[in-house]
Amino acid sequence: MDLDFSRAEQDFRAEVRDWLAAHVPAPLPSLDTPEGFAAHRAWEAELAAARLSVVSWPAAYGGRDASLIDWLIFEEEYWAAGAPARVGQNGIFLLAPTLMAFGTEEQRRTWLPRMARADDVWAQAWSEPEAGSDLAALTSRAVRADGGWRLYGHKTWSSRASYASHGFGLFRTSGARHRGLTYLMFPMDEVTVRPIAQLDGLPGFAELFFDGVLVPDSMVIGEVGDGWRIAMAATSSERGLTLRSPGRFLATADRLVALARDADPVLADRAVRCWTDAEAYRLHTFGTARRLMAGEEAGPATSMGKVFWSELDLRMHTLAVELLGDRAGETPWLDGFLFSLAGPIYAGTNEIQRTIIAERVLGLPR
Ligand SMILES: Cc1cc2nc3c(=O)[nH]c(=O)nc-3n(C[C@H](O)[C@H](O)[C@H](O)COP(=O)(O)OP(=O)(O)OC[C@H]3O[C@@H](n4cnc5c(N)ncnc54)[C@H](O)[C@@H]3O)c2cc1C
Repeated sequence: MDLDFSRAEQDFRAEVRDWLAAHVPAPLPSLDTPEGFAAHRAWEAELAAARLSVVSWPAAYGGRDASLIDWLIFEEEYWAAGAPARVGQNGIFLLAPTLMAFGTEEQRRTWLPRMARADDVWAQAWSEPEAGSDLAALTSRAVRADGGWRLYGHKTWSSRASYASHGFGLFRTSGARHRGLTYLMFPMDEVTVRPIAQLDGLPGFAELFFDGVLVPDSMVIGEVGDGWRIAMAATSSERGLTLRSPGRFLATADRLVALARDADPVLADRAVRCWTDAEAYRLHTFGTARRLMAGEEAGPATSMGKVFWSELDLRMHTLAVELLGDRAGETPWLDGFLFSLAGPIYAGTNEIQRTIIAERVLGLPR
């Protein structure tokens, strides 16, 4: 495998680095506050104006037709520069790949450019009170109505939904378990939203109540009843490359090594181990990207990446909090630590990922 970057890739890296050096703002308020949400949307619009918000998308939708390798380079520079969290993340990394693969051209042209500029911010509405790991148990329904569908039911743990303008998720249109599910988009206006406080006290996610919300047929993604297949394709983007690229962990690892510079050798050794693991994840991901670019599928192996990055992130933040002791609360490390605790849960828990790895990657008996 060739680990050298091409001239064009190096030029792209330099362009991104220079642009970020000139534009990254001072830390914004949390995106889980109204003012922070607005400030993060404004930042996304600025990124989009430089055509940097979705570099790997087609130019027609606001991207640059860049390769996955370029996107990974962008991510490394983005997180190393200390740029803001991506408020449009769930739309950009989960809904957009789904629309690219299963949506109509009209849906792509309607929604993707708006998403790229954060005109709309999307929340993922999959989980329900009785359907998390066992997603096929979901009971929210879409009932046929004149010109569209009426939505009924209760979703939960929907990130950014406290302030998002739109959502997307699975609704039952017929059948049982994974049969008869339909993938739908909806505007948030008529959904009753009940914010849920995370460990930091801010409403990072919300419950959603649907009581006959009407959505037109143009908001159905793919065929009615084909939602499970579409959702399963989206999960490999979520767990794999797109939701958590290595750049984020490399930036954390660099900061951790700096923090541990004068620490007790045992702690410093743990920091170095985290750094080498972040680098290993980086190299592994370049390999995955090359395979995807050659037309191969990411498939269930993305579950290995998900377990690896979530455990690494937790180890890094745990060590930082140990190194800082009482001072951790005066730094961003404490918030980072609280969020890292959720890594083994969201995007499918690590217990579930280990079962997928055992059965579908290693071929062990059920
Ligand atoms: C920070 C955060 C953000 C989130 N954002 C979103 C979002 O935007 N949209 C959304 O739809 N959801 C979101 N979620 C929800 C997340 O997807 C679910 O929490 C997750 O899928 C687990 O489902 P659950 O909470 O119902 O737990 P359960 O499924 O009830 O699991 C409870 C425990 O039992 C274990 N378990 C369950 N079944 C098995 C099994 N068969 N074998 C072994 N162990 C098992 C699980 O691993 C877990 O430890 C978010 C969660 C978090 C923490």
